[in-house]
Amino acid sequence: MEAGEEKSKKAGGECFYEVFEEEIHQVIVGNRLFKFGERVAIGASGGKDSSVLAYVLSELNRRHSYGLDLFLLSIDEGITGYRDDSLETVKRNEVQYGLPLQIVSYKDLYGWTMDEIVKMIGLKNNCTFCGVFRRQALDRGAALLKVDKLVTGHNADDIAETVVLNILRGDIARLSRCTSITTGEDGPIPRCKPFKYTYEKEIVMYAYFKKLDYFSTECIYSPNAYRGFACEFINDLERLRPRAILDIIKSGEDFRIATTTKMPEQGTCERCGYISSQKWCKACVLLEGLNRGLPKMGIGRPRGNVNGDYKDIKARSTAKTIESKQCGSLDF
Ligand code: SF4
Repeated sequence: MEAGEEKSKKAGGECFYEVFEEEIHQVIVGNRLFKFGERVAIGASGGKDSSVLAYVLSELNRRHSYGLDLFLLSIDEGITGYRDDSLETVKRNEVQYGLPLQIVSYKDLYGWTMDEIVKMIGLKNNCTFCGVFRRQALDRGAALLKVDKLVTGHNADDIAETVVLNILRGDIARLSRCTSITTGEDGPIPRCKPFKYTYEKEIVMYAYFKKLDYFSTECIYSPNAYRGFACEFINDLERLRPRAILDIIKSGEDFRIATTTKMPEQGTCERCGYISSQKWCKACVLLEGLNRGLPKMGIGRPRGNVNGDYKDIKARSTAKTIESKQCGSLDF
């Protein structure tokens, strides 16, 4: 390659990095995602989204003096041959980016690894358990780090898929909040998505050309058929209308829920104190089933009655977690 050609290739790359990073910066500033001096945990799975997020956020934090204290927060679901390998990537990221890492494991929190759960329940509802447990594990990890916010690497493609899935499932509660750039503001630790408007393709290109260290193997227990359909549907739409992803997000943002729609009321779990719209939170119901050797108790129609308050069990059984997506990424 000629020197001039090399130079112009480099200039093109620099230009892409600059625009990519500036767009994220504008999203952060425009949506007032952080306040000066906040402690912020980055949900880190070792996958491309969270690795790029950790890298870009530390760059922007330095460049624009956000004044943030950044941490990496990883969840160890206990999936041999998948999470153990991806955690090695996060441990390298800890050194590469100079960010302290906290790992919380399902085994420590719940007494079960995903390997053990799959052994008991098989591959059918594994992501329901995993998604529910992960959501709570992230909050518990964030509390350990005493952070003010948790950021995740959800990108525009993920959000558009989630809008479509929530419409298909008739999940009005999730539909109403899935496009919010910050959620859980009324809870202890709000969560933000700085990549809300960033296409997955851009993230892949950025990670590739920056030669970032990330893990790209899929979870060995990933079925994800339903999300797969939504993903294919959106890919088809995008071929016909390139801005389909942003349009779907916009549609999701503009949905208005009828005031007559009954929404779940938030309280706390009587057993563990975690936020819950029921007497027991989902994690406690699922755990009870596992510990009693009746793992379907928390997912199917109730046969027995653990706490006498399963009115919405059917609704919950169908709400296969949005967390279960391509699942290297720590979703929420
Ligand atoms: Fe858990 Fe994701 Fe694997 Fe499902 S695909 S078992 S949610 S890590």
